[in-house]
Amino acid sequence: MKGLEYSELENWVQEQGWKKFRAKQLAKWIHGKKVGSYDEMTDLSKDIRNYLKENTELNALELITYEKSKEDGSIKLLWRLEDGHTVETVFIPERGHNTICVSTQVGCAVGCTFCFTTKDGLIRNLTTAEIIDQYIQTQRFVGLENRISNVVFMGMGEPLANYENVKKAVRIMTDDRMLGLSNRKITISSSGIIHQIKKMYQDRDFPQVRLAVSLNAPDQKTRQMLMPISETNSLEELMETLNSLPVKTGYRIMLEYVLIKGVNDRPEDAHRLARLIGKNKKRYKVNLIPFNPYPGSPYERPEKERVERFHKILWQYNIGAFVRWSKGQDISAACGQLRKKDLGEKVSFLTKESLKANG
Ligand code: SAH
Ligand code: SF4
Repeated sequence: MKGLEYSELENWVQEQGWKKFRAKQLAKWIHGKKVGSYDEMTDLSKDIRNYLKENTELNALELITYEKSKEDGSIKLLWRLEDGHTVETVFIPERGHNTICVSTQVGCAVGCTFCFTTKDGLIRNLTTAEIIDQYIQTQRFVGLENRISNVVFMGMGEPLANYENVKKAVRIMTDDRMLGLSNRKITISSSGIIHQIKKMYQDRDFPQVRLAVSLNAPDQKTRQMLMPISETNSLEELMETLNSLPVKTGYRIMLEYVLIKGVNDRPEDAHRLARLIGKNKKRYKVNLIPFNPYPGSPYERPEKERVERFHKILWQYNIGAFVRWSKGQDISAACGQLRKKDLGEKVSFLTKESLKANG
């Protein structure tokens, strides 16, 4: 049920021989109150509830377990999909607002050499329902009073390689009759698949949201070494594309840059990055992400001083740059540390009550 847009939900209820207003009722329960079962939909008759139970699936995900960071309160949730695969979502409480980082694929085909998610390649795309349910069930889990206003598509997978399902999810998120989130508070992060980025900006049905692009290197040679996708989507062409996208004012493109010790974190790299941005400073902001190590990772995280030096050079060029020390380090909920889990015997079902008990 969570994969349907509003118009589809209306069509569906009419196909069942029901009045159109049932769509509104259903959206109120599913997207508004975020109920976990049809039984909670008290203004629907018992017959209708039974019919829904027998003929549809309300939930696309089942919570297996979660971990809460003692450092910063972020929560990583692990879900089981219908076919037994698993994905993760991260809830990030911030001052004044809450953010959720959603996954769009099981694994990833892009193969960046610094990223844990891609180690087993791509298993499959997530459905729209599986993307939307990460939001709905996480919101339910943390309590409706802790409203999640911001969504970043920065979890497992390459969102633009799952274009149609992600587009539909964004349409449901921004529809006032459904999740009602603000376009400005949704960010899609891509590794830089040029034709898909262009397509997204030309697509009138794709709500205008924020774009983040993982740059990660100031020159083609280094980028190609870190991100094999750069062989066919060159840095030069990528920058030309980004420089000419019709971005709305107040929607700066975020350039993400993972800082890896000795690879792309030298002062000359910062100068080259600044030159790459050149006169288009107002179009971008730069997010510096110190590399997050994972078991067996081939790279190291730079020391704080190296990160600060890099950061400072960008500021000297008047480039808006920010260091994002990833949240949830202690629970490996940080960028690039999410990976599908093999479900062992240690599977526990947890409730909101046990979360509270665990602090
Ligand atoms: N596939 C998309 C979105 C998911 S990755 C993309 O690549 O943009 C989200 C961000 O995490 C990207 O900016 C990526 O460069 C970063 N990332 C991946 N692995 C990382 C790691 N080990 N440490 C720090 N950041 C990492
Ligand atoms: Fe895929 Fe993004 Fe990881 Fe690259 S950084 S492998 S695109 S998830």
